[in-house]
Amino acid sequence: VSRAARVASELRDARLAEHATADSGPPPTALADLTVLATDTQTAGRGRLDRAWSTPPGTALAVSVFLAHEPSGAPELVGSASSARDPAAALPRATLDPRRLGWVPLLAGVAMVRAVRSLGVTGGGLKWPNDVLVDGRKLCGILTELTPTGVVVGAGLNVSMTAQQLPVPTATSLVIEGVPEHGESVDGEVASLLDRALAAYLRELVQLVGRWREAEHPADLRPLVEQHLQTLELAVRVDLPGQPPLRGVAVGLDDDGRLLVRETATSGVVAVAAGDVTHLRYE
Ligand code: ATP
Repeated sequence: VSRAARVASELRDARLAEHATADSGPPPTALADLTVLATDTQTAGRGRLDRAWSTPPGTALAVSVFLAHEPSGAPELVGSASSARDPAAALPRATLDPRRLGWVPLLAGVAMVRAVRSLGVTGGGLKWPNDVLVDGRKLCGILTELTPTGVVVGAGLNVSMTAQQLPVPTATSLVIEGVPEHGESVDGEVASLLDRALAAYLRELVQLVGRWREAEHPADLRPLVEQHLQTLELAVRVDLPGQPPLRGVAVGLDDDGRLLVRETATSGVVAVAAGDVTHLRYE
C-alpha cells in the first residue's frame, strides 16, 4: 500500500489515506476529492443489497475512491452567466445531477476492465451494472454509494487467490487468469501484482472521472461504456423485487446509464435501473 500511495500521489490531485487493515480506525471525516483507501485485507466486505463479499487475507484488493461533489471546493456553475442567476443552475457539475451519477459505477467498471487487460487478462468485460467478468466468472465487483458530500466508488478485485481459495465457484482471480505475480509496474520497477493492479486501476479511473466531469452531456461516455459492456445483445433475466422476472435481450443504455431490455413477451423496450435490480442473469 505504501507503494500505491506513491503511485497515487503522482496522479493529478490524487491523495491517499493509508489503511493497513480494515480495523485501523475510522476514515477521516472531511475527505479530499480523489482520496483513496486501499487494503489487501478486508474483513467485512459487502456487495449490493448487503450481500457478502469475501476474500482470504492478502489475496485481493479492496479500494475505495472518493469523488467529491465539489472537487474544487467551490461549485462550478453550469451554463452561462444568465443561468447562473437561477439557483438550481448553480449546482456543481458532474455531481448532483442523477443522470450523471448513474454513469459512475459503469465508468468504474470500464476502468477496471481496462486495468486488468493492461495487466494481461484476455477478454473480460463489464456485466451491467457492477461486475467485471472473465469467461462468465467474477473477477471484480463494484459498489458505489452516495454521501452528502460525494460518491464513494468501491471495487473488490480478486488478485492472487488460487482456485482452492475462491470464496464462490463462480469467481476468478488475476492469477487464475494467468497474470504473473511478479512483474514491472508502470514506472518500470518490480512490484507486487496487488500494487500493479491498484496503480493501473487508479490511472484508468482518474482519467475517466476527468472525462466524466468535463462531459457536456451525462451520456457522452455511453459509446465508451458500451464498448466494454459484455451484456449487450445477450438474453437476460432481470429480477426486480415484487414483480415477475423480466426476460428479454439487452439492447443498450439510456441517457441515465439504465439498461434497455427488449422484452421477449411484448417486444417493448424497458429501462431498468441498477438500484431496482436484485439479480441479472444471462440466459
Ligand atoms: P450476483 O453476482 O449474485 O448476480 P451481484 O452482482 O449484484 O449479484 P454483488 O453485490 O456484486 O452481486 O456481489 C455479491 C456476490 O458476489 C455474493 O453474493 C457472492 O455470490 C459473490 N462473491 C462474494 N465474494 C466474492 C469474490 N471475492 N469474488 C467473486 N464473487 C464473490
